[in-house]
Amino acid sequence: GEEPRLAPAGEPRLTVVSGPSGVGKSSVLAEVRRQAPEVYFSVSATTRAPRAGEIDGEHYHFVSVAEFERMIAAGEMLEHARYAGNLYGTPRGPVERALAAGQPAVLEIELQGARQVRRAMPEANLVMLVPPSWDELVSRLTGRGTDASAVVRQRLDTAREELDAAAEFDTTVVNSDVQAATRELIALIAGRDRETG
Ligand code: 5GP
Repeated sequence: GEEPRLAPAGEPRLTVVSGPSGVGKSSVLAEVRRQAPEVYFSVSATTRAPRAGEIDGEHYHFVSVAEFERMIAAGEMLEHARYAGNLYGTPRGPVERALAAGQPAVLEIELQGARQVRRAMPEANLVMLVPPSWDELVSRLTGRGTDASAVVRQRLDTAREELDAAAEFDTTVVNSDVQAATRELIALIAGRDRETG
């Protein structure tokens, strides 16, 4: 029933990509980066500790709670949320500059943040990446072996909440095949779904 939220044709668009932990967001988005280098990917700020191999300023801006709170107070966050005990947020400036320069922009954020973007920028395109089935997600999450079991349980609860919110998104993309999901996502990011003809 709702009218699709379309930016004027030809203007670059902000796309929010959400999806539960374990759905394969990182693999699909890594492919999107490789195949669509013209797309701007927001670098979030977070108070969580870097994981092995993560580079400050590239995967995240790793900041203290005090710095994170300063950024919120200064109005520098487009959205922010607490997830699994840590704070995550999107610095506003770089996203606005990319869009103004004509680049489509992507935020990879969780559900609460996606809802804030929906309110702040109704023209944003909200995409949820979903697993082929719940069982598939459970086995991906429990088989990953990088987090303690309490963390896995928490992520499964959060995953259930995120999937229950799929109807709030403009599009859901099923990740049963990375290349197919990548193609779908690139078309959505580039706004090819709103071209006429
Ligand atoms: P991770 O700690 O595994 O890198 O990320 C945990 C969750 O935080 C993921 O669902 C990820 O999409 C989300 N996230 C990452 N950056 C942001 C952000 O800037 N804002 C919000 N709201 N969520 C984020």
